[in-house]
Amino acid sequence: MNTKSDSKNVLVLNSGSSSVKYTLFDLSLNRIAKGSVERIGSAEAFIVTDTREVCNVPDHNTAVELVLNKLFSNVIKDKNDIVAIGHRVVHGGEKLTLPSVVTEEIKDEIRKCFNLAPLHNPHNLSGILACEKLLPGISNIAVFDTAFYQTIPQYAYLYALPYYLYKKHNIRRYGFHGISHQFVAEKTAELLNEPLNKLKLITCHLGNGCSITATKYGAPVDTSMGFTPLEGLIMGTRCGDMDPTIVSFISTSENMSLNDVNKLLTSQSGLYGISGISNDMRTLTEESEKGNERAKIAIEMFCYRVKKYIGSYSAALNGADAIVFTAGIGENSPTVRQKCIEKLDKIGIEFDASLNKETRQGLISKKDSPVKALVVPTNEELMIAKQVITLTNN
Ligand code: AMP
Repeated sequence: MNTKSDSKNVLVLNSGSSSVKYTLFDLSLNRIAKGSVERIGSAEAFIVTDTREVCNVPDHNTAVELVLNKLFSNVIKDKNDIVAIGHRVVHGGEKLTLPSVVTEEIKDEIRKCFNLAPLHNPHNLSGILACEKLLPGISNIAVFDTAFYQTIPQYAYLYALPYYLYKKHNIRRYGFHGISHQFVAEKTAELLNEPLNKLKLITCHLGNGCSITATKYGAPVDTSMGFTPLEGLIMGTRCGDMDPTIVSFISTSENMSLNDVNKLLTSQSGLYGISGISNDMRTLTEESEKGNERAKIAIEMFCYRVKKYIGSYSAALNGADAIVFTAGIGENSPTVRQKCIEKLDKIGIEFDASLNKETRQGLISKKDSPVKALVVPTNEELMIAKQVITLTNN
């Protein structure tokens, strides 16, 4: 069946370490197609569109080629119907603070941030390089996860290290998941029927990576991820906040290089490290219900850390208007949401357990709670497409 559209489109790509996710939008931001190539580089690689097909996908270039073949055979008539391709890029450093048409200089800046986001930036750039090769002449636009945080004040983004280290190496808090927090903040304002520039929000992005952001009148004032996406909340395999001395202590006592300790903190820690079972909240919830003590403590620690940040950001904002949950865990786990915000009535959150069980989008606090709590599904791809269209219109 030929379902090719006559419309002009924006393609959004999110290239991760072993996957390339894509979404095609028309210029009115209607979603035309969506899918992913997963397990790139493994013998079990596959592409998901309406169906799932096993494929040979040795690298990101092949993954993007597969995506384009699918789109051109099913959805897009001509390459010139793609107005631009938007790419999620995790770390833009101090220089890349706005969505940018990709040039050689922009690619160099993305490369300079490789060591700050080694799990993300190299793969984000691979997606861009593949598009340049496969669709010459079509604009690639990089949208940065760090860009949303430009308004965070210096007292919140500096670390208490010798100041020259900030000047010399740009060691500071950058913040991540900005595309998601921005989308969710805007959507929350819409759901509460209040202008964003009148709201103080605490948005909790709880997925495999987790972060929490305080936004005052539309501008972020603090966020939990820092110089890299390792700081802050407990995540699937990342440790989040801890005493920095532990790094050299582990290095000495376990006879590990600093590089290996970094890997341990990034990919062997968090929910996975504590439970020893899984980084997946679904598995941990099931195991905890069966009585597994380590799964139980992992969930307790995860939720307690979120609760502490909600408290500190409530203070930073002098009271929030709403606490918002998003991403895989935030959108799908009533159990986690309940543990994060029940018994916070003294700071104004009147939790509603039955709304929390049912709601897919909207309130999970009592209607007249002084501080509202909500679930808001994130849509990073839509936010990227919006920013690409704004840039190309300009
Ligand atoms: P994300 O990175 O946003 O895709 O989120 C991934 C995380 O969401 C994983 O830890 C999943 O276990 C978790 N998740 C997805 N669905 C559920 C669910 N129904 N209950 C609990 N956790 C879930």
